[in-house]
Amino acid sequence: MSSPPALIDPFGRHVSYLRVSVTDRCDFRCTYCMAEDMTFLPKRDLLTLEELDRVCSAFIDQGVKKIRLTGGEPLVRKGIMTLVESLSRHLKSGALDELTFTTNGSQLARFAPELAAHGVRRINVSVDTLDPAKFRQITRWGELAKVQEGLKAAKAAGIAIKINAVALKGVNEHEIPEMIRWAHGEGMDLTIIETMPMGDIDGDRTDQYLPLSVLRAQLLEQFTLEDIPYKTGGPARYVHVKETGGRLGFITPLTHNFCESCNRVRLTCTGTLYMCLGQDDAADLRAPLRASEGNELLNRAILEAIGRKPKGHDFIIDRRHNKPAVSRHMSVTGG
Ligand code: SAM
Ligand code: SF4
Repeated sequence: MSSPPALIDPFGRHVSYLRVSVTDRCDFRCTYCMAEDMTFLPKRDLLTLEELDRVCSAFIDQGVKKIRLTGGEPLVRKGIMTLVESLSRHLKSGALDELTFTTNGSQLARFAPELAAHGVRRINVSVDTLDPAKFRQITRWGELAKVQEGLKAAKAAGIAIKINAVALKGVNEHEIPEMIRWAHGEGMDLTIIETMPMGDIDGDRTDQYLPLSVLRAQLLEQFTLEDIPYKTGGPARYVHVKETGGRLGFITPLTHNFCESCNRVRLTCTGTLYMCLGQDDAADLRAPLRASEGNELLNRAILEAIGRKPKGHDFIIDRRHNKPAVSRHMSVTGG
């Protein structure tokens, strides 16, 4: 069998990773991500599960090896397991190396066994605090105990877990050492994410912004952090924490540019392809997808879009105007 053609962008980067936001809806309302009162897309604008499968499969045919389903909350999309089951055929054939999720964990207790059965080996679960009251305050609607149950179920199903925590000044800032000990004690990696200025939220983002360079300096008072070359295909830089024996990642989009090794593109639930998280340029794949039953138009649109992938992003928290640099919410492109 000949290997599939590769998607190579104008800067020679091989696009091998597709992140798909399967819904813009969520059962949480994290303060840094959404306003409490959100207007979601009308259902008719969404790609159907079959259409999502078609687009994902077209990317796989063009050499994409890793797919991450995200959202909004991917596990609240109705019928999501149908999509997972159908995409799992590409894992079985060897065309796809990895099918994974980023989830808030609220539905994991229910879905973990099925996810494992369909070949999902690793997932990212977002947990910003281990304090139930603070968890409720950050997520507005979430319940930590339910997420803990989900983590247990995923572990029991043999799924490896990475915890994602967004660093929030004055909120979970002083809890990070405890979270490191907890995650590593449970055999989970932990990645700390710097807040990104995406989408209008109710509060003031400059209040939440905690540079990871500051956090790292604080952590060095308690831990020995050794840089390691570990890579998961994502933008995180990893260290080994000597005291816990675990891995800790840092994602610092604002203070460090990771664009040079970017291998990913992002598809929204309406079929819009963003070639860069930090830029507004996008390509509509829904029209070519719906224009014919064959994939010729779709494949051409994908190639054209990759040909426009920009060199890098220009995130900046605009302190004078306090406006997000990118107007869409993270829940649209899935982070
Ligand atoms: N609902 C799922 C979850 O929370 O994991 C998946 C979607 S969520 C948008 C993906 C990741 O983006 C989460 O880890 C979340 O904490 C992070 N996130 C959301 N808004 C963010 C922002 N403005 N800055 C940094 N990270 C953000
Ligand atoms: Fe929902 Fe995830 Fe956004 Fe929180 S971060 S509101 S869980 S999409």
